[in-house]
Amino acid sequence: MKDMNEIINYCKQYGFIFPGSEIYGGLSNSFDYGTLGRELKNNIKEAWTKKFINEEINNYSLDSAIIMNPEVWVASGHVASFADPLIDCKSCKSRHRADKLIEDFTKGEETGDGWSNEKLEAYIKENNIVCPKCGKSDFTPIRKFNLLFETHIGVTEDAKSKAYLRGETAQGIFVNFVNVQRSMRAKVPFGIGQIGKAFRNEITPGNFIFRTREFEQMELEFFCKPGTDLEWFEYYKNQCLNFLYNTIGLSKENLRYRDHAKEELAFYSKATTDIEYKFPMGFGELWGIADRTDYDLSVHMNHSGEDLRYLDPETNEKYLPYVIEPSVGVDRLLLATLCESLTTEKLENEDRLILKIKPYLAPYKIAVLPLIKKVHADKAVEVYKELSKSFVCTYDETANIGKRYRREDAIGTPWCITVDDETLNNNTVTIRDRDTMEQVTLKLDEVKDYIAKKLEY
Ligand code: ATP
Repeated sequence: MKDMNEIINYCKQYGFIFPGSEIYGGLSNSFDYGTLGRELKNNIKEAWTKKFINEEINNYSLDSAIIMNPEVWVASGHVASFADPLIDCKSCKSRHRADKLIEDFTKGEETGDGWSNEKLEAYIKENNIVCPKCGKSDFTPIRKFNLLFETHIGVTEDAKSKAYLRGETAQGIFVNFVNVQRSMRAKVPFGIGQIGKAFRNEITPGNFIFRTREFEQMELEFFCKPGTDLEWFEYYKNQCLNFLYNTIGLSKENLRYRDHAKEELAFYSKATTDIEYKFPMGFGELWGIADRTDYDLSVHMNHSGEDLRYLDPETNEKYLPYVIEPSVGVDRLLLATLCESLTTEKLENEDRLILKIKPYLAPYKIAVLPLIKKVHADKAVEVYKELSKSFVCTYDETANIGKRYRREDAIGTPWCITVDDETLNNNTVTIRDRDTMEQVTLKLDEVKDYIAKKLEY
């Protein structure tokens, strides 16, 4: 696996991810996705939608607002307690998350999740954990720091106009539970999933796009009958791991479950498991899967005064469903995908950089390359125009063909189509496979079906 700096440089050089607001000196931990990054991100989101919404007969989608009525966040508990334990080094004045100091110190064996301030402080003291910046162990007491970004609606900036950028997409789902259930005539058990931006004023962002203040989440809230929840929890644990392994292509040895111990669980949660991925800096949470009981629906029911209970049409029973929540960050998953797929392969005479990504995730599916620009470019443009109606393609007529192949390997393009004299005379093209570097010759009118078949998943 490449190290993080190699990944960061690669992302910038090839147009996946740029530092945010770069010409103004950047903004710490903000990033912009370039052409290829945007394509890859879209393909990851599409793969998630396919697996967790389209292929699940009882699951539905939603696209809710980022700025919601602030009472949503009061009810959910975010205003009172969506906070990280902040600790300052008295010696060098650097700021840290106390739980992350412990997590780094124990190399992920302890996470500090759900610990009280007293327990965190005691652990740091007893184990003589030092400031990663200056090496001293002289910390302030822990203070809680709320992660919600505040904003104001309208012209006045008073308490009445205060609103929040959503800290997770899940609350948009809970407040629409009845709308979706009724409009889709959904019967419990069913799920509502959504993909969208979330914002957290993280104290210690870092490790490239692993932890940023603005990120995207893919969350599913699956509503089921109390008593069946643990079965569905197991079901989604498996679905998520299978998705990472089979659909995204992460390797088994880089993935592990981390079940939360009882004292780590949020007070409303019956069970929580993280799926962790072995990033270049070590194992880190990729996907959180939680049995949230009826906590969310019940707090919104109490706070809003609306009846959110489900009426079972068969038994006439009215109840609040339990919720299983698998929640994953798009950016973290994209980072894991790049870490897993970017490799250097040794060939006889040279090394080739290759992004060995699943073809359906690749930013470009096809590169159309005229063998000799002067002779074959017109025909190649024609081929590009036709194929790009069905696939995301790229066109390249610069440099020699070998160099063009190398560039396409490096950005993960699974197939290069070369347009040459045979194309002009016989309407055939050669298709080169990224992984095997083997070439096949096909009639032009066979290409679409050939590629479409290979992209099925
Ligand atoms: P962490 O312990 O890493 O702060 P969390 O437990 O607060 O994460 P959740 O609230 O469970 O995270 O969010 C679900 C998923 O959203 C995480 O598993 C992760 O993939 C993603 N995520 C959370 N915070 C961030 C962030 N600041 N930047 C990028 N992705 C994030």
